[in-house]
Amino acid sequence: MNDQMKDQQTKPEDSMGKLKYYVIHCADTPPGMEVTKGMLEEWHMGPCDQVDGTVKYKGKIYRSRKSLPNEFLNGNFIAYLRGRGWDRLGYSELIHWDGKREIITPFDEDAFVESDEMTWGVAGYNAVSRHIMLAGGKGQLNRFSDHFTQDQEATLLQCIKRTILHHPDITIVGHNQLAVKRCPSFNVYDWLYSHRMQKFGVIDIVNE
Ligand SMILES: [Zn+2]
Repeated sequence: MNDQMKDQQTKPEDSMGKLKYYVIHCADTPPGMEVTKGMLEEWHMGPCDQVDGTVKYKGKIYRSRKSLPNEFLNGNFIAYLRGRGWDRLGYSELIHWDGKREIITPFDEDAFVESDEMTWGVAGYNAVSRHIMLAGGKGQLNRFSDHFTQDQEATLLQCIKRTILHHPDITIVGHNQLAVKRCPSFNVYDWLYSHRMQKFGVIDIVNE
């Protein structure tokens, strides 16, 4: 996942909007590898070295790694972590390899993405999106079943159906339909079609 989300940061346009997209992501991890909320905290919120020598951590800029606070993320002293420096996670929901769903950034089901519900999944779309991530997805293949388990598929379908019930006008997209990325390593429209839910997807790259 480290390359996928490079350079995504808080942008001014990321202020609260009406929920419009349910965006599917993958962790870009090998098959069978567990991905936890703690790992995501390391990857997303861990200190990020800036070109000018300063260090970004939880959205704030520090003069150097020596000036970082004495804190731990996922049990690791932050001074030795390399992350994105974000002030929050990139996703709201995580689907583990065994199909278990975990809410990692709480949200309610009203029509709006409140600022504390927002996650940093796709720069420029976060104010109108909820992001869900599947453990797995590493590699060049292109079908859902090449990368993920049947348990994950069942859970993702449940999550999508639940979201559609609360938000009938929502559009289901892959990260790669909003930005030039491989994530989530399968074609979301084709996959929705195979489950007779194409009405909630879009074929073309969304570019608004
Ligand atoms: Zn993604």
